[in-house]
Amino acid sequence: GSDLQGLRTTALRDGEDYILNGGKTFITNGSLCDLVVVVAKTDPAAAGKGISLLVVDMRWPGCSRGRRLKKIGMRAQDTGELFFDDVRVPLDHLLGEENRGFAYLMNELPWERLQIAISAVAQAEAAIEWSSRYCRERQAFGQAIMQFQNTRFTLAEALTEVQVARVFVDRCIELFVRGELDATAASMAKYWCTDLQCKVLDACLQLHGGNGCMLDYPIARAWTDARAARIYGGSNEIMKELIARQLP
Ligand SMILES: Cc1cc2nc3c(=O)[nH]c(=O)nc-3n(C[C@H](O)[C@H](O)[C@H](O)COP(=O)(O)OP(=O)(O)OC[C@H]3O[C@@H](n4cnc5c(N)ncnc54)[C@H](O)[C@@H]3O)c2cc1C
Repeated sequence: GSDLQGLRTTALRDGEDYILNGGKTFITNGSLCDLVVVVAKTDPAAAGKGISLLVVDMRWPGCSRGRRLKKIGMRAQDTGELFFDDVRVPLDHLLGEENRGFAYLMNELPWERLQIAISAVAQAEAAIEWSSRYCRERQAFGQAIMQFQNTRFTLAEALTEVQVARVFVDRCIELFVRGELDATAASMAKYWCTDLQCKVLDACLQLHGGNGCMLDYPIARAWTDARAARIYGGSNEIMKELIARQLP
């Protein structure tokens, strides 16, 4: 959830093992995975400074899976739940150092958020292409709907905004390749590009009329797929909280 430091899964030392107890919902590939990296409190009193990463084999006793969750979109990718009930995890399955897990996660999150932004821009670009083609073919009032100024302006605005987003995302990629992408820029890219993705896809769906609501059309599927992007990888509200910390 948004409150990562408030996680309740624990891994407490017992001889040569940790005893892992807890669970996690909303795990991409959770129904298929065999080896998982579990984020757990090894020092429950210490908030962020008591979090560690453990490599867990889902075949071990005490590990179980919940149901495959039914999402509004992204049906090709499963989202599941995992549960850990007194799972013995050998101490050498600790990833990195004990109680440094939160810092490791914070280190990797900018890359995950940049990937979400890249995907958002790519999907918005695809939507503009599908819509442009559709609007040249679809006829209403004796003409292609592209002849309506509203259609052209809607697509022109989308094309402009997506171009602006791509320039920023390209800049973030450059920074990432140089090892200089910071959490603020990655949060800006994630929040702004996924908001734009949803805005553009919604406008493009509208241009498809009733067909836009039919899953036979790629725009309909993309529209349902896009919604979760404003939530996963850290919600867009959390992104704004992170950005706000850098205000002068
Ligand atoms: C399809 C999908 C796949 C996912 N895959 C994974 C995965 O593979 N691994 C993984 O770890 N997680 C995954 N998640 C979980 C995802 O990261 C969380 O859903 C997300 O971080 C939000 O947490 P939450 O659902 O608990 O919502 P909550 O934290 O309960 O938030 C509810 C609402 O409150 C708002 N809110 C919360 N705190 C604040 C605040 N401080 N200020 C302002 N607003 C706030 C949120 O923005 C949101 O609008 C996935 C989620 C989805 C939908």
